[in-house]
Amino acid sequence: MNYEVFAIACEDYEFNDNYNKLKKLLLDNNLLSFVKKDMLIAIKVNLVSASKPEKAVVTHPILVKALCKILIEMGAKVIVGDSPGGLYNESSLNNSYRKTNMNMILETNAKLNDDFSYQTINLKDGLIVKQLDGCNYLLKADAIINFAKMKTHGMMALSSCVKNMFGSVPGACKLQYHYKYPNHQDFANMLIDIQEYYKCKLHIVDAIVSMEGNGPTMGNPRKVGLILAGQNPYNIDLVCARLMNLDIVQVPTIQEAIKRKLSANSFAELSLNMNIDDYIVKDFLKIEHANNVQFYSNDSNIFKKLLGKMAKAVLTTKPQVNKKQCIGCQKCFQICPAKAITMKKNKPSINRKICIRCFCCQEFCPVGAMKTHQTFVAKIITKSKKSKN
Ligand code: SF4
Ligand code: SF4
Repeated sequence: MNYEVFAIACEDYEFNDNYNKLKKLLLDNNLLSFVKKDMLIAIKVNLVSASKPEKAVVTHPILVKALCKILIEMGAKVIVGDSPGGLYNESSLNNSYRKTNMNMILETNAKLNDDFSYQTINLKDGLIVKQLDGCNYLLKADAIINFAKMKTHGMMALSSCVKNMFGSVPGACKLQYHYKYPNHQDFANMLIDIQEYYKCKLHIVDAIVSMEGNGPTMGNPRKVGLILAGQNPYNIDLVCARLMNLDIVQVPTIQEAIKRKLSANSFAELSLNMNIDDYIVKDFLKIEHANNVQFYSNDSNIFKKLLGKMAKAVLTTKPQVNKKQCIGCQKCFQICPAKAITMKKNKPSINRKICIRCFCCQEFCPVGAMKTHQTFVAKIITKSKKSKN
């Protein structure tokens, strides 16, 4: 296993500075040795919503442009793309490229993906995914670079390298995956299966300004001041959790990667090129989560099973609408894969019995009215756990 994760300090998004720092990070640590003249490299960025770069939702276009310039100077051909959760077509993606300023990468002779075809692939080595829908621009590339943004995430607590490759699944097909893998552990293993299939040559994380709070689309920008890179996505995510001061027990993708022996067991096992202690954001606003609470609902003992069900009802984090903020756009109603939302008096009402806690409604609400809600009891348990740690 590769235990190395590399980082470089970077204050802000300024093209010449970003270009020099990124180049130093990648060349000094021999991370671009796979690049050959005329090879086609796809850069999978995060364009989850058509937001301005300063909102910290997307991989910052200035940093992506810097990477494009470096690769093109090495003789590669470069294509940049993503497939956000809505429609995967020309008008939707052109809107994203424009609003996120990702169009600026065209100045380097890199291209923005305009092939919106996809295919189904057989995953013979997948732990739980046996068939995967994949975007052709990624499948046709000679190499893929996964360029993530470090953020909080409603369902997975952390969005970084591992979560970013879910954008390889075309548009609305993602909803089927949410429906098929409603359990957080299965969803995490599905993400890991995708990651293992694509075997990206390089993973980079934009952690200059990350997102805290109601991520991955409606949180607040929070400066961290680093760019991270390496070849093991799980170990980079461990570093991200450290920077966000996040307990790794709360991150299902990290837990499952550890079980599958794809990741180091802890941050302490990693080898970093610099000390990142000064970059840890101690008061980073995390997503309200209760994944660290163990339930007994699968236990064969009837008493434990009952206790588990009760605990789950009282402790599970749920989506909850802030009716004052809600503008009644119906986006959550349209996107909910479990059909758990109905609109009543132009506001969403959630059927808790069928909600699968995928948090798509929270991710795609355009005004941040849908929140992750932790119950009072779960808040007390989480607080007492933290004070013990
Ligand atoms: S209500 Fe929200 S969290 Fe529940 S299933 Fe629907 S989209 Fe997912
Ligand atoms: S997506 Fe947000 S604003 Fe739109 S109806 Fe749902 S909660 Fe309200």
